[in-house]
Amino acid sequence: MKQIRLSWMRATIFAAAAMCGVLLSCQSGGWTAAEKKIICEADSVMCVMTMPQDSAVLRTPSVDVSPRDLKSEELKALMAKMYKTVTDPTQDGVGIAAPQVGINRRIIWVQRLDKAGEPFECYINIRIDSLYGDTTRGREGCLSIPGYWGIVPRRSDVTVTYVNPESGQSLKEHIHGFTAVIFQHECDHLEGILYTDKADSLFADQ
Ligand SMILES: [Zn+2]
Repeated sequence: MKQIRLSWMRATIFAAAAMCGVLLSCQSGGWTAAEKKIICEADSVMCVMTMPQDSAVLRTPSVDVSPRDLKSEELKALMAKMYKTVTDPTQDGVGIAAPQVGINRRIIWVQRLDKAGEPFECYINIRIDSLYGDTTRGREGCLSIPGYWGIVPRRSDVTVTYVNPESGQSLKEHIHGFTAVIFQHECDHLEGILYTDKADSLFADQ
């Protein structure tokens, strides 16, 4: 009996310590209380905002992560959870933008289908500088509009500027082909724009 009580006490202390660790790790930086709540309370796979019920967050233009927040625990946690979400077998996307997990900040993950191994990469405070090249029409879907797909005209080339989350450096990059389409789709999310706004035609999944 004594042994059981001791084990229970130990487990309680460990649980409290673990909880404190979570709370402490989410107290730095200039995130809003609402953002901290979403980041801290989410499981590793986050709840994906969907239309039409989450239109308020999906239609709101996103703001930059502040320079002070670039090294914050919140950003690290949010990036890790967004990655888990987009690569989760239930989602299986090629990109995700922070508004899709309820955070109106300029953060996206894109699967670099144009690179060896097709890695996912995270881009902070990203903006499209220029769009150019041929316009082609291709099939697109969105984690936030489940059950539908559409044919969307997109340019073949983009130039983007962003902050690399590891180095903190501002970088400029040119992307070509289908990966450039993913960048356009995800950057549109940061302006509150959905692919359905630009699609020539929309179809329901069979
Ligand atoms: Zn989308």
